[in-house]
Amino acid sequence: MAEVLVLVETQDAGVRKASLELLTLARRLGAPAAVVFGGGDDVVATLGEYGAERVYTVPAEDAQQYLSLPQAEVLVELARRSSPAAVLVTSGPEGKDIAARVAVRLDSGIITDAVDVTAGDGGVQARQSVFSGTWLATSRVVRGTPVITVMPNAIPPEPAPTTPTVEPVEVALTDAARGARITDRSPKQSSGRPDLTDAAVVVSGGRGVGSEDGFGLIGRVADALGGAVGATRAATDLGWIDHDLQVGQTGKTVAPNLYLAAGVSGAIQHRAGMQSSKTIVAVNKDAQAPIFEIADFGVVGDLHAVLPALVDEISRRRG
Ligand code: FAD
Repeated sequence: MAEVLVLVETQDAGVRKASLELLTLARRLGAPAAVVFGGGDDVVATLGEYGAERVYTVPAEDAQQYLSLPQAEVLVELARRSSPAAVLVTSGPEGKDIAARVAVRLDSGIITDAVDVTAGDGGVQARQSVFSGTWLATSRVVRGTPVITVMPNAIPPEPAPTTPTVEPVEVALTDAARGARITDRSPKQSSGRPDLTDAAVVVSGGRGVGSEDGFGLIGRVADALGGAVGATRAATDLGWIDHDLQVGQTGKTVAPNLYLAAGVSGAIQHRAGMQSSKTIVAVNKDAQAPIFEIADFGVVGDLHAVLPALVDEISRRRG
């Protein structure tokens, strides 16, 4: 069975959930082979837990000292060696940068922002959600090795325990890959909350929150539910909350178990980033707000009254 190369992203010495989703998808296409920069024993064990039959480990400094080129060069080298059925990378600015370079060097087709990947009759097929989720397009790479970037939260990661073969990889990086060196890093202040794209619960606020201080209330609800904070573009443009937390067409895509939208009208560009959430709850004082069209549960009311009552009720039930 042909290998499927999966570029693994790590975070705080663990494997990002999005990479476990890629491994789950890779099992449909062939034998998952994880490519990880600097993975320790715990990382290898997690990759095995999610079905990686082979783990290519690359020295961490190759990825840490330089920009995306070393990762692209390693993937290209491995693809040339193993002729994989596909190369899967997580969608995101860095992932798409890497995937594009891999596709060019392999002279292969690329599909970006897939929401599903399957093994079809004519080869690997990818689905993309286009025009803010209005259409689902199914495509296939017709030249070379399919290089596919997959949106985080496309599917739930499913364990399939196996004991992977670990293969250290030494790739002689080109001068171009070493052309730009990272000279300094400033770690982002941790909010103590889960990462927005990985979170099982997301509590988002929109213009209806009213102010930067109002987002303190959104944070309290998120903390009560152990979730992440999200926002609409209107709220981030007003400077009430970090742009990093914007959900939507030009922000992050999330698909948590619970998405609570407060003071959010439900514009199509916002829906594009959250409509795959399993349960959607909306709090809006306008009963005609479009968000109610996709909400599983809705409360028509002022969020400044509804959300504090919700936090009180959660703490009361938790004793
Ligand atoms: P509004 O539409 O102003 O809605 C505010 C809501 O709050 C209203 O429904 C109101 O009834 C309610 N409200 C007010 N006060 C209260 C209260 N006290 N209690 C309860 N409810 C209250 N938007 C995104 O979010 N993400 C994107 O990625 C994105 N990308 C875009 C890309 C393009 C190319 C364009 C053109 C737009 C994009 N937008 C995006 C913007 C989008 O079109 C909307 O303008 C935006 O989502 C609206 O944000 P909002 O719901 O916070 O604000």
